[in-house]
Formats: sequence, structure tokens, C-alpha cells
Amino acid sequence: MKAFASSADLVAKEQTLEVLADGVYALTAEGDPNVGAIEGEDFLVCFEAMATPVAAAGWLERLREHTTKPVRYLVLSHYHAVRVLGASAFGADVIAAHDNTRALIAERGQQDWESELGRMPRLFRDPSSIPGLTWPTVTFSDRLTIHLGGGRGELVLTYCGRGHTEGDIVAWLPKRKILFAGDLVEAQAALYTGDAFHREWAAGTLDAVAALGAESLVGGRGAVARGEQAVSAAIRQTRDFLTTMLEQVSAVRAAGGTLRDAFMAAHSALAPRYGRWPIFEHCMPFNVSRLWDELSGTERPVIWTAQRDREVWDHLQD
Ligand SMILES: [Zn+2]
Repeated sequence: MKAFASSADLVAKEQTLEVLADGVYALTAEGDPNVGAIEGEDFLVCFEAMATPVAAAGWLERLREHTTKPVRYLVLSHYHAVRVLGASAFGADVIAAHDNTRALIAERGQQDWESELGRMPRLFRDPSSIPGLTWPTVTFSDRLTIHLGGGRGELVLTYCGRGHTEGDIVAWLPKRKILFAGDLVEAQAALYTGDAFHREWAAGTLDAVAALGAESLVGGRGAVARGEQAVSAAIRQTRDFLTTMLEQVSAVRAAGGTLRDAFMAAHSALAPRYGRWPIFEHCMPFNVSRLWDELSGTERPVIWTAQRDREVWDHLQD
């Protein structure tokens, strides 16, 4: 029987800080959640907050080797706990997110915190340092532009449609053609789709991401995609993961099969290509469970609780 989710994954990952252009940074970590930062003339924009303030402080220490500018904006790509609960470490004037992200935190932020802590305890360095849920202070529905000043251009926060969650946004730096895509795109890491809208994500949402024409892309997990070919490959892999799941689970449903049959079929179809990528086994039970619900007409993802996590895991992944 497999250990629950990533509860047995306790070996720290190597973090790599990459300078993508003058004043544009990404910290990747072998498949752990990526974060980024963009310098304005006299301030910083940070992208994603990590799981705890103690974890985030480690990232800020690395960043401070490059710049001492204060953090004016903290941008949250979506509501998931491992992306938002470290926010207090940044001392940001503004915490920006999509309208739906704020609503999701109000609706299910507490449950998501408990769920993610149980699934991936390693990311929660000193969980007692989390002061509470993270509340965005500025939210928007379509687009929010941050003028960076000093000839650095602008950073455009854009909603591309429902995808990994109901409220994902990307951060786009047109002057440098660099895209921080959050969990809407993964580069050689498995997708987590337990809170997703698979059909929209695989179609219009990824089309909108691709249409930006990025030449460098920082996905939610995995290495930075550098160059148009690598960016296209990351988007293509993300779409293929989704469409393969959709094909398999739809076929099982049409044939009168069960959720467990659908899990087996999707797992078998994806494993040859994606089975060795980070968090594949962790994600699959939650992914197929949500997709099954979506195809059954359940409009919005059912809230994951620590208890429901275990029930679904025990039903599918043993
Ligand atoms: Zn996420």
C-alpha cells in the first residue's frame, strides 16, 4: 500500500535561484512549488508566498543577495495553501489576487490548509509560524497592471479563465516576454487537478496562456522553460495530461464503469509519459475524483477536507 499523498516525501529539495533578466528572478526546487520576484524602480513584486512564513523567509534571504528593495506587491496566483500561507513574511503593502481567489479562501481556505498540511507536510516548515489565513487586499476580475517604473515596463496580472482552480491568474512581463504561469502550466511535473475545471483548462484557458507568446515561462512546479520551444512544450504537456485524463475517464463512464475503473485507466494511460514526474502518484486519486465529479455535472469542486482526502486515497490508491 502506498504512503498517503506526499506524507513520506521528507527529503529536502535543492532550491535554485535563476536570474531570468535584469531584475527578474525565479526560485525553482526540483518539482516543489516555484516562486518569483520582479523588480520595480524602487520596489519589488513577489509572486507566490510558499507554505509558511519560515519557508518564505528562506526565499527572501536568497533574494536579498540581489536586491534590498521593499516588497510592495505580493501576487498570489491562486488560493492553495502551499502558495499563500507564507504571506506574512513579505511585509507587502498590497496582496493581489483574483476575485474568485478571495472568495475561495473565505469558502474553503481553512479546509484546504488542513488538507495540504496532511498531504505534503515537508513544505510546511514550522507550521506554527502561520498567523492565519491569507487575505488578498486588492482583487480583480480580468486584469491588473502594475507599472514598474524606471524603464522596466509593466507587469500585467491576467485572468485566463477557469483552470487549475476557479481563480488562477498569471503574471506577464511583456517587455521581457517572461510569464509566471502559476499552476496553469507545469514543466515536467505532474498536474494537480483536484480543484480544476478540466475541459475549460484544456481548451480556452491554455489557449489564452499560449497566446501571450512567452519566451520564458516559470510554471507552478519544475524547471524554468527557456525559449519558445520549451514554453510550447510545457504548455503542450500540460494540455496532453488533461486531455488524456478526459479521454480515459469519459470512456470509462460511457462504458458504465466505476470511479475506480476510471482511476486505473487514467493512471495506466498517463504513467508511461508522466509517472516519474514529481507528485504524480500523490495527485492522481484527487485528480480523477474531481474529473469524475465534473463529468457527472458537479459544477464546482467538492471541498477537500483532511478526512475526505484519506477516504478517496484509500478507495483508489492502494
Ligand atoms: Zn495549486
